[in-house]
Amino acid sequence: MTTYFAEHAQLPTGTATSVRLTATDGRISAIDLRARPQSEDIRLGGVVLPGMANGHSHAFHRALRGRTHGNGGNFWSWRDQMYAVTRRLNPDTYLALARAVFAEMALAGFTVVGEFHYLHHDVHGRRYEDPNAMGEALAEAADDVGIRLTLLDTCYLTGGLQADGHLPLDEVQQRFSDGSVDAWAERLTALKDNDNLRVGGAIHSVRAVPRESLGLVAEAARGRPLHAHVSEQPAENLACQMFYGATPTQLLHEAGALGEDFTAVHATHLTDDDIRLLGGTSTTACLCPTTERDLADGIGPARVLHDAGSPISLGSDENAVIDPFEELRGLEMHERLESGERGRFNTAELIAAASANGYRSLGWEGGGELRVGAPADFIAVTEDSVRTVGSRSEQIVYSATAADVTDVVVGGEEVVVEGHHRLGPTADLLREALGLLRDL
Ligand SMILES: [Zn+2]
Repeated sequence: MTTYFAEHAQLPTGTATSVRLTATDGRISAIDLRARPQSEDIRLGGVVLPGMANGHSHAFHRALRGRTHGNGGNFWSWRDQMYAVTRRLNPDTYLALARAVFAEMALAGFTVVGEFHYLHHDVHGRRYEDPNAMGEALAEAADDVGIRLTLLDTCYLTGGLQADGHLPLDEVQQRFSDGSVDAWAERLTALKDNDNLRVGGAIHSVRAVPRESLGLVAEAARGRPLHAHVSEQPAENLACQMFYGATPTQLLHEAGALGEDFTAVHATHLTDDDIRLLGGTSTTACLCPTTERDLADGIGPARVLHDAGSPISLGSDENAVIDPFEELRGLEMHERLESGERGRFNTAELIAAASANGYRSLGWEGGGELRVGAPADFIAVTEDSVRTVGSRSEQIVYSATAADVTDVVVGGEEVVVEGHHRLGPTADLLREALGLLRDL
């Protein structure tokens, strides 16, 4: 049993002061309001929030941060640069990079991450001796860091979609593919959940999984979280419409994929009918605002989706930015720019998007809220930095950044203390891991 004393804490009922949180066996076992600090309490200054959920990540994209802005371009030219990084990754370099990137996430206040993982095989597309060597590198990295991981093991079968049909895999994409849904499902079922790991499935996109295979993937992943990139780019919609005469959302609906266990990532370019299908099935929409603006994707219909019945979650996706507050504010601020209105999402809705909705979408039911019985995952945000000083405690999410997170607790244990991750200086971990990629 460990007790924490918080100056302020963001409870489901609102912001409370002088709160003692007791963690027993990884869960919150008691919350005492108007408590007095005891000598055994670990003191958390500032505002304590539920741990943040990173609903959608590709850890290795971190290698591109600050290196893709030289020549303009678009999503597709960025993708070519991203593919170049994959050539440098093997289970060892992937472990080092993921450990550093997950440490950066923990330092920023993320307590769980959904890793949308499609880098399965070696650079020639051959299975490693252990076919899950790359996924296990991610799991080991998350364990070392102390962040919860949902490994969204991704089915990837074709090289793209054009008006006349699916393209064969190119040289780089060979390593993404298992060749068939059965082979993918066999690899998936060899992975096992544990206290720190949930295994989910993913459909890379309707570009990479043809219509006849979508239902098979959904069936194989039944009972697990299932995610897919959906309508991030108009070009995907156009090709899908021309070849199938349907939108990506319609195809996924016909395949039986949509529902409470399903998360549509991005969901940027949707028709009214798509929004009805996603909302009507309580499908989560995971928006990735810092990525969507970086890649010039567009602004998704977040509030409309929410009102139609889709919980909204948030992800850092390409990891050009790792900051839960930036994602949370991006959700609201992009809506403001589009609508000419402020307060499109209220503060509780924004915190739910950054936390509880992501936990649920990643298969951690009950996580992301400071309530008895929930996983003991929470973070402390200082009110004394140049960014946050003077802000109201209950509005701290509008001024804080990742740099203002002082303490991070996962499963009742401190992973970050006073701004320091337990693995040591995170910038050094990143420098070392990125160096391995560039020197190869
Ligand atoms: Zn993605």
